[in-house]
Amino acid sequence: PSAMREVMVQAPTVGWEDLGGLDEAISSLKEGVELPLKNPRAFESLGIRPAKGFLLYGPPGTGKTLLAKAVAKEAEANFISIKSSDLLSKWYGESEQQIAKMFARARAVAPCVIFIDEIDSLVPARGSSANEPQVTARVVNTILAEMDGMEEMSSIVVIGATNRPTLVDPALLRPGRFDELVYVGAPDQAGREHILKIHTSAMPLADDVDLSAVAGEAERFTGADLEDVVRRAGLNAIRRTQGSPEKVTKADFEEALKDSRPTVTPKMEEEY
Ligand code: ATP
Repeated sequence: PSAMREVMVQAPTVGWEDLGGLDEAISSLKEGVELPLKNPRAFESLGIRPAKGFLLYGPPGTGKTLLAKAVAKEAEANFISIKSSDLLSKWYGESEQQIAKMFARARAVAPCVIFIDEIDSLVPARGSSANEPQVTARVVNTILAEMDGMEEMSSIVVIGATNRPTLVDPALLRPGRFDELVYVGAPDQAGREHILKIHTSAMPLADDVDLSAVAGEAERFTGADLEDVVRRAGLNAIRRTQGSPEKVTKADFEEALKDSRPTVTPKMEEEY
């Protein structure tokens, strides 16, 4: 029963305009990923190498996956995505083969962004048999060997993501590996407003709806939390009108906010 899977190549459809409140992360990725993939000469002419690997870190639901897809689209690159836990096969040699297959596929469809989610799970968990230490060490070493082997001016960029940056194997963070760290945090007021605007773009809103006021009531909400508020407001409108809603009202949003809690706690924010 092999867990080897096909490597799926995607051409992402989300772009910068689908992201709210991540201006700093976006400009890091524009400069660090989009520019070298689109214009490698700019780096060559200065004799410097672009970063090979980026680590996006921050609370869950803040848009890390979305950012990786968007930078691939904007750089006109393909996108290959894998969860680290899917790489941890107990079948001897299979994890290595899967990684080799993924990098080979990326080279074949370059320019390409490889997105590795949950990269913190590539650390041998002490006292737990879930991640067998030998398997995780082999997976990390194989990824490092692939990244070390990538040419300086490569048309492949690796983007890792984690909610728990302190757990990431330090070997992954050395220069020439994941050497750019990008924080992806919960949005501020303007960011929340922008995200609400994006997620209500196809929703008929009543005149009394003030998205800036909704954003003001949604402190520490992540992008995913805000998307959920919009969805709940829509459901409230359906319920209120017994299935024939015309517009979503201020009251529908207030009700939705009452039923929602932010994912990010103040304590959590301090930890990053
Ligand atoms: P995790 O750490 O749990 O994998 P993540 O940071 O990768 O989460 P995403 O999967 O990118 O989060 O976000 C989940 C969904 O939440 C997105 O598909 C999107 O609809 C919404 N979302 C999150 N952040 C944003 C944002 N900054 N702008 C717009 N939508 C967002």
